[in-house]
Amino acid sequence: MGPLPQEIQHRLHHLGIEERHLIGYQLPFQPEQSVIVAGQDIYERPLRMSADTYSSWLELEAAAAESNITIQVVSAFRSFNYQCQIIQRKREAGESVDDILRVSAIPGFSEHHSGRALDLTTPGHPPLEEIFEESRAFAWLTQHAQAFGFAMTYPRGNRYQVAYEPWHWCWHPAT
Ligand SMILES: [Zn+2]
Repeated sequence: MGPLPQEIQHRLHHLGIEERHLIGYQLPFQPEQSVIVAGQDIYERPLRMSADTYSSWLELEAAAAESNITIQVVSAFRSFNYQCQIIQRKREAGESVDDILRVSAIPGFSEHHSGRALDLTTPGHPPLEEIFEESRAFAWLTQHAQAFGFAMTYPRGNRYQVAYEPWHWCWHPAT
């Protein structure tokens, strides 16, 4: 990867994210992509994702429903600015940058900037918890999501050195 755009470097510096945090960082840079409104998330906030992701998501959701499995979206597109706010809020709450970066991506590097990453849940499970892996929804995704172009980005022992996230699935265009 080439040098980060100056504006982004400034914003990261302002958040306390330094060169040493970026050296050896395994996540690829994710420029913000254009997105469309794709209904609402489980908190009834507007949901945004890429148009291609949305059409594949609708197909996946419908196929799961045919097996009596409800899959819901907790979070999809997140902007660079929003990711900065997440980090800023945690810093104001007293967390160190190093601790924050163990669970939150450096702004500019979240797969959610692409509009193709979806955090999924199912009724009866707390969102964004590892226990999602014990749900029927997760079992269904493991078997069928690939047919709709979705893959889990952070399985256990992933090459990005990111904590296991059974809820995080990303749509990839067919090659
Ligand atoms: Zn995610």
